[in-house]
Amino acid sequence: VKKKAKGYEKQASEIKQAAVLGAGIMGGGIAYQSASKGTPILMKDINGEAIELGLKEARKLFGKGVERGKLTTEKMAQGLSNIRPTLSYGDFGNVDLVVEAVVENPKVKASVLAELEDNVAEDAILTSNTSTISITRLAESLKRPENFCGMHFFNPVHRMPLVEVIRGEKSSDAAIAATVAYARQMGKTPIVVNDCPGFLVNRVLFPYFGGFSLLVEKGADYQRVDKVMEKFGWPMGPAYLLDVVGMDTAVHANAVMAEGFPDRMARDGKTAIQVMYDNQRLGQKNDLGFYRYE
Ligand code: NAD
Repeated sequence: VKKKAKGYEKQASEIKQAAVLGAGIMGGGIAYQSASKGTPILMKDINGEAIELGLKEARKLFGKGVERGKLTTEKMAQGLSNIRPTLSYGDFGNVDLVVEAVVENPKVKASVLAELEDNVAEDAILTSNTSTISITRLAESLKRPENFCGMHFFNPVHRMPLVEVIRGEKSSDAAIAATVAYARQMGKTPIVVNDCPGFLVNRVLFPYFGGFSLLVEKGADYQRVDKVMEKFGWPMGPAYLLDVVGMDTAVHANAVMAEGFPDRMARDGKTAIQVMYDNQRLGQKNDLGFYRYE
């Protein structure tokens, strides 16, 4: 797969101007990553407060670079100036590639993508950071589905090297090539994958979470499971990782996996993860998951 990604890259020219829709956890992270690697990016949201939060996060990350002596204050100012926050599509006419990173709702994404397409040049590449929605299905809302593919980052964007580039049924080689090139410009490792529930990483990760859940349901101590998996060599165990991912996100993604692979992923009764979710133990986002965060 890596080889393939390299081949694609040669077909694309540099992304000179990028844009991201949504200034949330992912949108803010994508804006920072693009800006810090030198690619100017417009960051659009419908909510001014979200933009402020996205910028605050970027400032914090650049500030850490300065604290650690990796960045001069001049470079920090330069990096920050690469992020242009906006509430409108006014400047989208010369954007080469857009990452859509708004809320994970198929209806919202479909209408945002259709609106976006009307505000960019005909050859602009549109991508979606969706974790679970089919790229082929999202493409149905577009007049130029060949210019569209998935660009799936992982959280936190600045720390996670992998980006899944998802080929929908109608995605063109040019769209895949541009997205691979942009991921590389951002210092990431792109892999090109087919459009299926969970793409590649979550197809591996969610069966693992399912196995962990079964152990807990049989009475295993989650802290001990975490310690064992750490000794096995993983940087963190499944309970801690679920706290990072968020129980709401995990339940939602698991439902998509179960629908896509009912023979392997569907379960009778409630999983331990579902019980955690029902009890509002969402993980780090509300300071209470398998572990308590204060
Ligand atoms: P979030 O809720 O933090 O941010 C979503 C942002 O989208 C909000 O700021 C909201 O104001 C904005 N928004 C809503 N409608 C909009 C519109 N019409 N135009 C512009 N902005 C709009 O969500 P998030 O966690 O950053 O997730 C965004 C996307 O990334 C989702 O598709 C999610 O599945 C995907 N994703 C999330 C993670 C994760 O761990 N959080 C990881 C990978 C992918």
